[in-house]
Amino acid sequence: MLHWQVVKRLIIAIDGPSGAGKGTLAHAVARRLEYRHVDTGAMYRAVAWKALQDGVGLDDEPAVAALASAAAFAQEDGVIRIDGHDVTRAIRTPDMDKAAARVAKLPGVRAILVERQRALAQDGGVVMEGRDIGTVVFPAADVKVYLDASPDERARRRAGDTAHSGGQQGTVAVVATDLIERDRTDSTRAVAPLTMAPDAVYVDTTGIPIDDVVERVMALVKERVVGSR
Ligand code: C5P
Repeated sequence: MLHWQVVKRLIIAIDGPSGAGKGTLAHAVARRLEYRHVDTGAMYRAVAWKALQDGVGLDDEPAVAALASAAAFAQEDGVIRIDGHDVTRAIRTPDMDKAAARVAKLPGVRAILVERQRALAQDGGVVMEGRDIGTVVFPAADVKVYLDASPDERARRRAGDTAHSGGQQGTVAVVATDLIERDRTDSTRAVAPLTMAPDAVYVDTTGIPIDDVVERVMALVKERVVGSR
C-alpha cells in the first residue's frame, strides 16, 4: 500500500446510469485502496426481491419501507444477501431491474435505505455506487465521479453480461429499450432523481478500457489526499 493511501479514509461516490460500469469500477477502486465497496443498487434490488417473496405490493410504501427497515443486508465478496438469503443471481434479471426501480421511487423506502447507507460509511474508507450518492447520501463525499457511456455501449455491455440476465444473453435491441426506459424512470422520479452533482467529475467510458478508467479515478483520489495535506 502506498503511504498516501493510509493518510485519510475517504468516501468515494460513484453515480451514473445503468450499464455505465459503476460496479466494475467501484470494485476495482475499493480493492486497490482496501476500502469497502457498497453497491446501493443491490440494496434496492434486494428490497424488491423480498417484497415479491413476502407478497408485499411493490407500490405499498409503508409495507416496503417497514421491510427495508427490518431487513439484514450483507455484501461480501460479490455475494448479496438479505435476511440470510443469497440473492446474488436472483436480483439481476430484467424483471428485477423494473421491480427495483419501482421501489426506488418510494420516498419512505429511500429515506430508510439512505440512512442505512450512511451508517455503512461512518468511518470512511468506502466506495459507494448508485444514483444519488454524491447528491443525497454523501453530498460532502471526498471524491465524486459521474460515470457515463453512450446508450449503445451500455446496452451492448448489459446484453453480454450473463450474470445480469439470469444466465441468458439478451438481445441488444431489447436490452437497449429496457435501459432507456429505466434511465427515464430514474431521471424523472420526484425523489432523488439521477442527476450529476455539480462538483462531480464526469467520466465518459465509451470505448475506454476499464483499467484506464480505474487509473483516472485513482489519480483523483490521490489528488484529493495529497492535495489536502
Ligand atoms: O445500480 P442498479 O442498476 O443495480 O440499480 C437498480 C435500481 O435501483 C436503479 O434502476 C434505480 O432505480 C435504483 N437505485 C436508486 N438509487 C441508488 C441505487 C439504485 O434509486 N442509489
